[in-house]
Amino acid sequence: NSVFDHVVRAPEDPILGVTVAYNKDASPVKLNLGVGAYRTEEGKPLVLNVVRRAEQMLVNNSSRVKEYLPIVGLADFNKLSAKLILGADSPAVQENRVTTVQCLSGTGSLRVGAEFLARHYHQRTIYIPQPTWGNHLKIFGLAGLSVKTYRYFCPSTRGLNFQGLLEDLGSAPSGAIVLLHACAHNPTGVDPTPQQWEQIRQLMRSKALLPFFDSAYQGFASGNLDIDAQPIRMFVADGGECFVAQSYAKNMGLYGERVGALSIVCRSADVASRVESQLKLVIRPMYSNPPIHGASIVAMILKDRNMFQEWTIELKAMADRIISMRQKLFDALRSRGTPGDWSHIIKQIGMFTFTGLNSEQVAFMTKEYHIYMTSDGRISMAGLSSRTVPHLADAIHAAVT
Ligand code: PMP
Repeated sequence: NSVFDHVVRAPEDPILGVTVAYNKDASPVKLNLGVGAYRTEEGKPLVLNVVRRAEQMLVNNSSRVKEYLPIVGLADFNKLSAKLILGADSPAVQENRVTTVQCLSGTGSLRVGAEFLARHYHQRTIYIPQPTWGNHLKIFGLAGLSVKTYRYFCPSTRGLNFQGLLEDLGSAPSGAIVLLHACAHNPTGVDPTPQQWEQIRQLMRSKALLPFFDSAYQGFASGNLDIDAQPIRMFVADGGECFVAQSYAKNMGLYGERVGALSIVCRSADVASRVESQLKLVIRPMYSNPPIHGASIVAMILKDRNMFQEWTIELKAMADRIISMRQKLFDALRSRGTPGDWSHIIKQIGMFTFTGLNSEQVAFMTKEYHIYMTSDGRISMAGLSSRTVPHLADAIHAAVT
């Protein structure tokens, strides 16, 4: 008898569970479009050349030690991360109004931000888009915030439900926190236009809603780091406060290194430094201090002009390959005469396409075609290649006819 006999088996994580099922499938044509990680044309994981180069330099540096980092992480990494997302000439950075702490990738940055808000912010309600990345609900809920949703996606147009979004944020209580995907919304691939962002900004500032940006795909959506950061920079340019969680998982391919940052843009340098002192109290009992290796890679690449340049080229190549997969899949469905309007495949941006396939169609494609994806019909474009597009198009065609 175990003292844990009463423990019931928990369900698999809906996203990571897709990979578990995929791994069990012995079919040679199986295809995993579930998990959000970049794959090459050959279907292989990619380590960027610039990352390998940075790692080599770290290994060769014999004066490098493995001492603990400070609670807030690597100072260079934090400063450079704030500049990367807010812009090199951001007044907020220059005025020292931003506190940045290195966290465990995007997830850890969101969690640290959520814990801080639960302790120090007067409004304990956060609005997250419907739908959103499944982990958001749990991250903010477990931190003790009350989680509500705002309308985001319109199933009939497979685009943004802008009216619904404005209505829901418009009726949110003053001061409420609002989670915004900075770009490449997961799972829908639907982002507001710059004009719509401006309207969202005006509405939110007029009601003192607090923006919390989740930036997991900077550079991955358009291929350009500055363009993808534009919505955040609009909110910072008005002088107001906001939270930003950054991840280097996708844009530097550092998934398992768990490198990310939380930046809190404050009204003054004095507030920022007091906020940082409290962030340390949040972090210390959770994991004491963050790991050194990944952040050292990122800091080296962001600091060196040549390496930074090399990174932007490799990043653009990843974004471009994803965009080309959208076109190939769209063309393949067209050439098969698959019923329906599939233009959302080329209109949506970022890593995912929200296909509109329902859970029965997804189950059919898994059973008959060994194609794995989340049951909401989200497919990772980054997991596709020229070789596998026809197989996917055949499966979609069969599922909808
Ligand atoms: N936010 C969004 C919207 C995401 O899609 C992801 C990754 N799937 C994350 C945050 C966090 O990822 P990580 O913790 O690996 O950086």
